[in-house]
Amino acid sequence: DEMDVDTIWMDGEFVDWDEAQIHVLTHGLHYGSGVFEGVRCYDTENGPAIFRWEEHLERLYDSCKPYDLEIDHDPEELTEATKTLIREQDLASCYVRPIAFYGYESLGVSPGDCPTRTAIAAWPWGAYLGDEALENGVEVMVSSWRKHASSQIPTNAKTTGLYVNSMLAGEEARRNGFAEAIVLNKEGNVAEGPGENLFMVKDGEIFTPGLAESILDGITRDSVITLAEELGHEVHDQATISRGELNTADELFFTGSAAEVTPIRQVDNVEIGDGGRGPVTEEIQSRFFDVVNRRTDDYEEWFDYVEA
Ligand code: PMP
Repeated sequence: DEMDVDTIWMDGEFVDWDEAQIHVLTHGLHYGSGVFEGVRCYDTENGPAIFRWEEHLERLYDSCKPYDLEIDHDPEELTEATKTLIREQDLASCYVRPIAFYGYESLGVSPGDCPTRTAIAAWPWGAYLGDEALENGVEVMVSSWRKHASSQIPTNAKTTGLYVNSMLAGEEARRNGFAEAIVLNKEGNVAEGPGENLFMVKDGEIFTPGLAESILDGITRDSVITLAEELGHEVHDQATISRGELNTADELFFTGSAAEVTPIRQVDNVEIGDGGRGPVTEEIQSRFFDVVNRRTDDYEEWFDYVEA
């Protein structure tokens, strides 16, 4: 089992792995009425440090809003629970998965009196698309599936039900021999990956789709924009990118808590740039890993240390 952990925090208690169970008539299972986060914790000189925890927590509570989902625990409790899970299980670098969803009570689509269930798990997790991918990039396919329009479902909320779309796109890509998908929005412009935001480098400038393009407001996206600007790059963070521009990009890369900064070396049949990790991608990726592994004192405000 990749989840080499034995404790999960659930509804205010630490429970054994085997006891972290829910009823099969849970509303969230039937209708996808849950919200979640994916957060990385990095192993640093000063012990495990959670990357941009505050922003992830804020997005978790924000994701609840359209669904009237009320997490019965305050941010401080979720923070303490997470730090305890990391500390007590001797995790160094790990991935943290908070989730909240409508539980079991009645099975109408209206959640009625369904209680909100909340859980947090933490476990070791390596490079999302593999170590090799970080260095040499991935081959991706433009999916035949489109992202939900933000008028159909709030795409800026990290809702469990949304991820069947991600699963369809990702599995279609893998069935066709690609590592990951790029998903277009309903207008046919570039939105993002199934679990990543997308950046394009063209003629020395950096472009990434804006929030109106049906993307999740990625926290790695935000971090990378900050780092790229610090490195002197011009970043257009409200770009509209047409499908055809993918083919003529100098560089493309994905960002995400899981994917970190992953170069894209090919889209469908087209090699991007020189077909490897491009120089701007490499510069930003290297700065990103220096920051998250705390090889610099900059951006200290982005880290929550687990040890008191
Ligand atoms: N888009 C989608 C659909 C995602 O699931 C994720 C991962 N949370 C991202 C973008 C990247 O967001 P973040 O950098 O906050 O992990």
